[in-house]
Amino acid sequence: MIDYDTYPELERGTVHRDEMSIAPKNNFTNILVLRELESHAVFTTDGESADLASVAVRTEDESVTYSPGLMFMRKQTGSDRRFGKALQRDLVGTECSMKVNEMCQECVECILYGSAASSDADQELSITSRVMYDTAYTLRDASAAIDEKFQNAPGDEYAKSAEATIREPDFFEPGTLFPTVVTLRDATPEELAFVLGITAKNKRYGATTSRLGRVNNHILGIYTGSEEGPANLELTRATLRRLSETGGYDTLEDAVTASAHDPDVVSGYLTETFEERIAADNLDLARVPDETVNDLLEMATGDQLADILEAQTTASNQFKAQAGDD
Ligand SMILES: [Zn+2]
Repeated sequence: MIDYDTYPELERGTVHRDEMSIAPKNNFTNILVLRELESHAVFTTDGESADLASVAVRTEDESVTYSPGLMFMRKQTGSDRRFGKALQRDLVGTECSMKVNEMCQECVECILYGSAASSDADQELSITSRVMYDTAYTLRDASAAIDEKFQNAPGDEYAKSAEATIREPDFFEPGTLFPTVVTLRDATPEELAFVLGITAKNKRYGATTSRLGRVNNHILGIYTGSEEGPANLELTRATLRRLSETGGYDTLEDAVTASAHDPDVVSGYLTETFEERIAADNLDLARVPDETVNDLLEMATGDQLADILEAQTTASNQFKAQAGDD
């Protein structure tokens, strides 16, 4: 479907769909994404407080410890998996469950994202995920990025009055940015297109309603090779350093407490820091040319994704048969 003759640069970091193997190899595709909240959003584990961390950042002449809000790994995978299964249903009619022990283990999504064995005798395999997510951190301190109270729209007051004393969850502010990497291991170009389609089109994360959890995933680049790229935490720190050194903030403190960051400026810095880490750590990763990424995105977000999923289904089933033979 997406052949290496047309896109020889994809030979690094992916495997051909006829050569999928259950023995892990070191083919890595790193997708660099800036997640931008376009509405208020709720990311919480206890239903009330936002999940927070404590992170130290240092430049040559300053060090600061701040409390970023977190978007846990599971908030990202849960939403992307649900979206991916819906996409498959729409495009090729595949029905698959989100319930842990009831996933079909047949579809492209299950074979790529993994699934647990079920009690059902013919589903005794568990399939390891080949898509890796990482907890994401806000660039700004919780005091700037998170509202503890959210005003209900006036029209909601009648219905809500009985609940008026219930504490509302913490709300992340629109405009909040999360530097993120999604990494695929031993994936095919077709599976990469599937993940790109999900990333480009999925617009809801966290607790979702019509007014909450809207996200714009800016895809900044794809890097392929024999290893994983830098982690989200490292990228977040490096982006903050750059914001304070060249981004118009006098200090790190000013950068983490800013009322907003420009997503275009941050996108540029995030890309630069990712590439800087590759060079500094001598990582075996190369950037896929933008024309190729644009071609892949066009296929991934259009009708062609149906053909891509059909072709991948055959390969995914052969892959699963290999696992069963073991
Ligand atoms: Zn499935």
